[in-house]
Amino acid sequence: MQHVDAGIETTDVVIVGSGFGGLAAAKQLSKSGVDYVLISATPEHLFQPLLYQVATGVLPSTDIAPPIAQILRRHKGADVRLGKVVDIDADAAVLTYETEQGPRKIRYGSLIAATGATQSYFGRDDFAEKTFSLKTIEDAKLLRAQIERVFAEAAKADRETRERLLSFVVVGAGPTGVEVAGQLKELAKRHYHQEISVTLVEGAGAVLPPFGGSLSEYARKSLTRNGVEVLLDTFVTDIEPGKVTVKTKDGVERGIGAETVVWSAGVAAGGFAKLLAEATGCETDRAGRLLINPDCTVGGHADIYAIGDMTSLNGYPGQSPTAMQEGRHVADIIRRKKPAGTPFVYWDKGSMAVISRFSAVTKLNDRIKFTGTIAWATWLAVHLFYLVGFRNRFVAVLSWLVAFVGTGRPGFDETDTPARTEAPRDRQAA
Ligand SMILES: Cc1cc2nc3c(=O)[nH]c(=O)nc-3n(C[C@H](O)[C@H](O)[C@H](O)COP(=O)(O)OP(=O)(O)OC[C@H]3O[C@@H](n4cnc5c(N)ncnc54)[C@H](O)[C@@H]3O)c2cc1C
Repeated sequence: MQHVDAGIETTDVVIVGSGFGGLAAAKQLSKSGVDYVLISATPEHLFQPLLYQVATGVLPSTDIAPPIAQILRRHKGADVRLGKVVDIDADAAVLTYETEQGPRKIRYGSLIAATGATQSYFGRDDFAEKTFSLKTIEDAKLLRAQIERVFAEAAKADRETRERLLSFVVVGAGPTGVEVAGQLKELAKRHYHQEISVTLVEGAGAVLPPFGGSLSEYARKSLTRNGVEVLLDTFVTDIEPGKVTVKTKDGVERGIGAETVVWSAGVAAGGFAKLLAEATGCETDRAGRLLINPDCTVGGHADIYAIGDMTSLNGYPGQSPTAMQEGRHVADIIRRKKPAGTPFVYWDKGSMAVISRFSAVTKLNDRIKFTGTIAWATWLAVHLFYLVGFRNRFVAVLSWLVAFVGTGRPGFDETDTPARTEAPRDRQAA
C-alpha cells in the first residue's frame, strides 16, 4: 500500500538492490502478495558468476543481465524503480534516492538492503585506473574490448610487439581469477591460435584458498598444465603501464610485462553499507561489511534488514547462495511466515569453480569432492539452472556449444562497448 504525504511517499516494504539478494527477497514477498518498491541503481539483474564468460566472448552480455522489471513483471505488488539510494534517516524510516528526474524520498515500513560489494584495492586505489575488474556488466564489456584490441593488434605486429600485447597478469586466484586466467589461455589457443603469457598472482599460499588441500592443488596443476604461470605467496606492489611489480613473502621482487592487468582480489562494501552503518551505528568489519544481527537486522533497528555481500554474519561465504537464502529469510519474517527475530542459518550446498574447458573443482562437503569433466559439467548445469529466463538459458546452451565444442566466441559479435571514462570503482553503483 502506498501514499504520498508532504512530498514523501510511504510504502510497506522497500528493497534496495536488484542482485541475488534483492531478487530472492522480492520473489519471496510476492508469494504472499506483499507489495514492495524495489529501487536499484542498475536496471538489470546481473548474474555475476558468468561475467568472465562475457569478458572472454563466450556469452553475449544480454544473456546474463536481463532487466529486473521484466523478471518481476508478473508480480502484482512489485514496483520497480531505477535510482541510487544516497541517504537514509533511520529514525524517520525515510530513504532518499536519486533518479533521472531528480531526488525522491520514500518512507518504508520495512527495509531490505542488498547493495552488494565493490572491488577492494587494499589501500592502492590508484590500481583501479590501471587494471580491469569484473563486477559490473560494463566492466565485462571493457575487458572484452581490451582482449579483442590486443589480439587484433598482435595479429599485425612484429614478434616483440606481439609478445608485449599478449601478456596478461591476473591478480587474485579466487574463483574469478582462476576462471579468467584459464579462459584467456583457452581463448588464445582455440579461438585466436596465438601464444600468450598469463601470470596469476596470489597472496595466499594456494590457488582457490577457500577450497584448500587436494582441490587447490588440482586447480594449480591444471592451470600450470595449460601454460598459466602461478605465483603463490606473492603480492602486487606496483602497477605501471606495461608492467606489474610483485614481491614474494621472502621479499624477492620482480617485474612482469603486462599489457592487460585483471584485478580480482578482495571485496569492499562501501556506498549504501557505509551510509547504513553511519545512520544506525552498526559496526562494520575491515572490508566495510555490516556486522548484522543473527536475524539480519541492522544495529538496533528491527525494521532494517541487510543481506548478501554488503554484510558479514557467522563467516558465511560472500556468495550468491548466502545472499539468496538471506533474502528469502528476511522476506519470510516480513510476510510473517517466521517469527520476528528468527536467526538466519545458512544451508551450505557446496562450492564449485571452473578452471577451463572440461576442468573444474566441486566440493559438496569435507568428504565429497570431485574434479575434472564431471565437476565442469556440474558447474555448467548449476549455473544454467540459476540463470534467469528460459530464453537466456537456451541462448547460453547454444553459446556454450559454439565456444566449448566448437571454437567460436558468439559474445564478440556484440558491438556495444562503454567508454572507459571513470575508474572501475567509480562506475560501481555501491
Ligand atoms: C566476477 C564474479 C564472479 C562470481 N562468481 C560466483 C560464483 O561462481 N558463485 C557464487 O555463489 N557467487 C559468485 N560471485 C558472488 C556473487 O555474485 C555475490 O555473492 C552476489 O551477487 C551477492 O548478491 P547481493 O544481492 O548481495 O549483491 P549484488 O548481486 O552485487 O547486487 C547489488 C545490487 O545493488 C544495487 N545497488 C548498489 N548500490 C546501490 C544504491 N546505493 N542504490 C540502489 N541500488 C544499489 C546494484 O545496482 C545491484 O543491483 C561472483 C561475484 C563476481 C563479481
